[in-house]
Amino acid sequence: MPLPGISRRTVLAATAAGTALAATGLATAPAALAATPPTLPNGTSADKVLVVGMDGLRHDRIDAANAPALKSLMANGTYGRSLLYANPMAATSSGPGWSTISTGVWPDKHGVKDNTFTGKNYGRYPGFLARLAQVRPQLSLFAAVDWPELDTHGTVTPGADAKLVYDNDYAVNDAVITDLTEQVLRDQNPDVLFVYFGETDEIGHNHGAASQKYLDAIAVQDGYLGRLLAAIKARPTYASERWTVLVTTDHGHTDAGGHGGSAIEERRTFVLAQGPGIAAGARPIDTRLVDVAPTVFRQLGIVPDPSWGLDGKPVQERTTDPFDTLQSSLAGRVDETGIPAGVLGFTRTPPSGWSVIDNAMGTGGVSEWRGWSFATDEFWSRSQRDQWRELNVRARGVFAVADSDEWADKSFSGTYDSTLVTPAYPVSGASAVTLGFTTLYRQEGAQTARILASFNGGTPTVVKSYTADVLSQVQTVTVPVPAGASSVGFRFHYTGSNNWYWTVDGVTVTTS
Ligand SMILES: [Zn+2]
Repeated sequence: MPLPGISRRTVLAATAAGTALAATGLATAPAALAATPPTLPNGTSADKVLVVGMDGLRHDRIDAANAPALKSLMANGTYGRSLLYANPMAATSSGPGWSTISTGVWPDKHGVKDNTFTGKNYGRYPGFLARLAQVRPQLSLFAAVDWPELDTHGTVTPGADAKLVYDNDYAVNDAVITDLTEQVLRDQNPDVLFVYFGETDEIGHNHGAASQKYLDAIAVQDGYLGRLLAAIKARPTYASERWTVLVTTDHGHTDAGGHGGSAIEERRTFVLAQGPGIAAGARPIDTRLVDVAPTVFRQLGIVPDPSWGLDGKPVQERTTDPFDTLQSSLAGRVDETGIPAGVLGFTRTPPSGWSVIDNAMGTGGVSEWRGWSFATDEFWSRSQRDQWRELNVRARGVFAVADSDEWADKSFSGTYDSTLVTPAYPVSGASAVTLGFTTLYRQEGAQTARILASFNGGTPTVVKSYTADVLSQVQTVTVPVPAGASSVGFRFHYTGSNNWYWTVDGVTVTTS
């Protein structure tokens, strides 16, 4: 909002002194709230969590910024970078981004696809403060936002015992939020706090993420973060408290400024966490934006009920996905000239115990995708934008992919026909075996995708076929175990002729 007749610097100075706030035109909070923070109920937990949301903070610009607080958290904490969805699942916009962070589920569950918030389903998938208020009402919960939509639409603030809500004059109100949150941390006893800053996004829009002004905005916001961290450490009771600090963002920005689309720079997000049980210096490849809320729950000793339907997991928890063991052997592009040479993200060598049968596979084509490959989200989705590869949100780290569309982008003969074969798993004494995995499957034409099971190395039989799109879902296939069987192996058999693709990740096999 405009501030006629008053310079930004003057307003900031006045704000720091706790005066002149009425002049900032606070949209939804009475001016009286600004000078002194609200009074919270006294906290009850020695486990405490501060979540700081920085809007539109492109993580690959932090290195170049004067950002000692963020860099300290990176050195002493776990820093997981990943990519967002894109349309048609949801735009890389703040509504979907903060909804994903707050609820711990992807847009196909929380329902927010853009900044209209149309379709929001916070009743079924509430934000983590609302959930905490339900399951542990004795916690003292605080929220501060200056993108007021996060309050008016119920994304973040429901459940908070006290909240600060300002309009989106971020240059002023980010500082106000810092002042007042600092006081809350110093003088009161909150248990869980969500604090939002918006100026990085504003500067990104106005000047681009490649600008010095964007770096300067990161530095300012880092200074706010540093003040909150200092206020935590200065608490008289700090020695007996166990604090976790999380920093995250809702989307990236293009170099020229802007987001909402499917460019890799718009899709960049991160989760940064420091606290008890969270490894220092870790850079996991299996962290995604849905992991913020589950990390908050874990740090408070709360085990989410399966009925909550969370998509995330705590940042300190690693997947046991065998495909992720391929991380160190990933290579750069061969034929995919649209992918920058420095992006190491694919291999056609399966993990130990797995194999790929390509004896019916055609020849030539794009070598990255000649038969089942193993790739990262960034590498695979950069092969071609806006063909729904961005929707592979329930894959983490390295996943398996069969893509007849990309394979056919270079001279080839024959058809795409490839089979991914799992190791043999023991099933002795079990009555049924269940194959679990996540998948993104896009159907076209005569393309086929089938799962086969083989007991004791016998002839594989089809146990599941796909004939329609499956847009990022968890799948389970349960098969009876024949009498006397001692092992089962599964096969993922895909055929296509310049059709679409099939991804498989997070394979689990359990017996009952
Ligand atoms: Zn924005």
